[in-house]
Amino acid sequence: MPDPAIIPPDRHRITQDQIDPEVIGIIAELRDAGYEAYLVGGSIRDLLQNAIPKDFDVATSALPDEVKLLFKRRCRLIGRRFRLAHVYAGRDIIEVATFRAQTPPEEDNDRSLSSGGRILRDNVYGDRHEDALRRDFTANALYYDPETENIIDDVGGFQDIQANLLRLIGDPAARYREDPVRMLRAVRFAAKLGFNIDPDTANPIYELAPLLREVPPARLFDESLKLFLSGHAEASDELLCDYDLFHYLFPYATSEEFQPEESMLLDLAFRNTDERIAAGKPVTPAFLFAAIQWGPVHHAMEKHLEAGKSPQESLLLAQEQQITNPAEGAALPKRFGIPMREIWSLQWRLHQRQGQRPYRLLSHPRFRAAYDFLLLRNEAGEPLQELCDWWTEFQEASDERRQQMQQGLPPAPGRRKRKPRRKKATPQISEQ
Ligand code: ATP
Ligand code: MG
Repeated sequence: MPDPAIIPPDRHRITQDQIDPEVIGIIAELRDAGYEAYLVGGSIRDLLQNAIPKDFDVATSALPDEVKLLFKRRCRLIGRRFRLAHVYAGRDIIEVATFRAQTPPEEDNDRSLSSGGRILRDNVYGDRHEDALRRDFTANALYYDPETENIIDDVGGFQDIQANLLRLIGDPAARYREDPVRMLRAVRFAAKLGFNIDPDTANPIYELAPLLREVPPARLFDESLKLFLSGHAEASDELLCDYDLFHYLFPYATSEEFQPEESMLLDLAFRNTDERIAAGKPVTPAFLFAAIQWGPVHHAMEKHLEAGKSPQESLLLAQEQQITNPAEGAALPKRFGIPMREIWSLQWRLHQRQGQRPYRLLSHPRFRAAYDFLLLRNEAGEPLQELCDWWTEFQEASDERRQQMQQGLPPAPGRRKRKPRRKKATPQISEQ
């Protein structure tokens, strides 16, 4: 086994005050109990990039049960595919993972691979060096020792980070076969860190992308949250499209049949999500997924309208034939179904501005999301400017002004007439 590179503090320039003291405490407790323990993974990568880490992960020689015994009620064991200890420290949860090894299939014991080589369970423990080798990217495989303040680097990750390079550890094609989600992770980290993907790491993606069809839909969903709700949705989306991966996540969200506005909405929703996160505003997955599915829903709804159904009925039918439970791609948890439907059905109700209706809408818990969604649709090119301006003003207006605003409103769009008998059909229907 080659000796790892040791990078002393004067070369890496990470200082202790950048690290959550709770994590240092947890590492010290593990070491006092006789185990090895280090800070590992994304947090060191982020600190080397002068970014603030999202969380701090610990890697240890202690087995999950031993971690549990040590931290007792402060600790919960989670995960089946990948058994892991959560240690509670104040308001934080610190992930404490036992060193794992990358075992070849013939030595397989407590590790199961599917016939295609995909890892189904991943609980073969090993030493620190083996733990480094089983990680995905070199940039994610650095260990920090809080006592010596050295970084330990088995895979050349320190250099790669300085060169802004994302590189898989080991043979890239084999690593993707083991876990196809690593293709999505490559895109995610490249987008987040602004790294280039090393050609040897990038090239196999084009050929191996179809392996993503084997990944459980719930895991694709988890990964899609990380791709799109971490502040780098726009860059992630671009890279996903470059590598032709987007449709494995959302096969129903792109279609030649969609209108340009329907596709545009998606781009705008990603940008909007990034801007909200950058501004510290809350983002809800339901809003983003309502945008991702707007293409198919809107498209189906238009067809029902053309067949003479009312807007309400059309929307109901369109919702039904989609998509909270697709056969392929990321599966959305059921709990998002209700808010997504509300955002869509409010799109229609926002047209109804007579009498008490707009007042009732203002106090609807989903009003704000529906209004933001309407603005995005308008920005994407749907002809909704008048309606958007009206709602923007109405929200802030005095009672008196609100009453004025309700005079002389255009009629809300209704059932679409297939064959107008005398007059030409009025153009209001385009606002659906
Ligand atoms: P982020 O800041 O986005 O959370 P991260 O590097 O912490 O980035 P996680 O998904 O939280 O990413 O994973 C923690 C660490 O576990 C990674 O840095 C990597 O070393 C390892 N890891 C996670 N997923 C995989 C995987 N699919 N294959 C190999 N190693 C992985
Ligand atoms: Mg992490």
